Amino acid sequence: MENNSQLRLSWVAIVFLTLTPVIAISTLVLHFYLDGFVWQQWALFLAFYLLTGLSITAGYHRMYSHKSYKANAVIRFLFLFFGAGAFQNSLLKWATDHRRHHKLVDGEDDPYTISRGFFFAHMGWMFYKEDPKYEGRYATDLQRDSLVMWQHKYYLPLAIFVAFVLPTLIGWGLGSALGGFAFAGIFRMVFAHHCTFFVNSLAHVWGKQTYTDKNSARDNFVVALFTYGEGYHNFHHRFEADYRNGLKWYHFDPTKWLIQFLNRLGWVSDLKRVPETEILKARLRMEEKKVRSKVRVEDSKYDEMIKALRERVEFTQLRIRELKDEYQLKKRELRDRNAESVRRLKTELAMAKMEFRIAYNQWKASTRILKRRHALA
Ligand SMILES: [Zn+2]
Ligand SMILES: [Zn+2]
Repeated sequence: MENNSQLRLSWVAIVFLTLTPVIAISTLVLHFYLDGFVWQQWALFLAFYLLTGLSITAGYHRMYSHKSYKANAVIRFLFLFFGAGAFQNSLLKWATDHRRHHKLVDGEDDPYTISRGFFFAHMGWMFYKEDPKYEGRYATDLQRDSLVMWQHKYYLPLAIFVAFVLPTLIGWGLGSALGGFAFAGIFRMVFAHHCTFFVNSLAHVWGKQTYTDKNSARDNFVVALFTYGEGYHNFHHRFEADYRNGLKWYHFDPTKWLIQFLNRLGWVSDLKRVPETEILKARLRMEEKKVRSKVRVEDSKYDEMIKALRERVEFTQLRIRELKDEYQLKKRELRDRNAESVRRLKTELAMAKMEFRIAYNQWKASTRILKRRHALA
């Protein structure tokens, strides 16, 4: 087994992933030494950090890998374009690995299984060549997408262009080509690499298991800070189709906020949300499990009582949901009915105005006749 792994080592990946941090730090130090503090270079770094990183989390991950919402062609192109600049492989390869991770999580065939240790899940897994038996196995739908296949075909030149050439050119325009290359280019790439890698390593060891303990995924606010909101990983592994990872509005999930913003603009649609009742059910079950593991409750009476109480909570929440739906329906009905009455009143008003005009004209005509008669008499 060990020999097999040795044979499949990918030296290109090993050299790339170990050398780039060294180049990143040294060129960045050189840039600061030569150019000093230039705020435009910081802004360029931030722009590329957000554009490439969010293209991975909102695009590669939540849209393409999990189909948690739909986007128009411009947004899909931008995700593939800037996603390539994150240097995390083509979307086709990324999504294939990621779907396999969800399906076989923690097992031998999970591509970045945490069962082989923190370092393996973080980046060690990329030191090996992909097992050919999995190539394109979980992504037949993506293989039919011509834009996806275009990005896959031209991935390397595209990645080099977006990751290094573009920031260098813009940096040059801002006064320092070295600054653009070092800061927004290679340092940004390495920094964002490890931010994303933390989702596979840290988010599988550190944090709370709020919704499921069937896998190692954890919810962790600190990880979310560095991973564009992907740190709520326990929720994500339990409800992978949901476009949110941070469930509550205050959960730090910039990826979710971006999707909601694009939805407001009408550029993305069909945002998938798991029903609140399902989420609550999962959370209550986990909380009960935790209580049970701490307190030895042998008495079946307590068991039944807890079960009954949980059912009561679930029922009341369902009732709230139903009432909310009914409220929305009535509100819509009322709005429609009101619109109808307003329309009717408007027509009646127009008719009345017309009748008034006719009556007034008739009155005017008759008074004129009367006046004329009077004059004649
Ligand atoms: Zn996922
Ligand atoms: Zn995971």
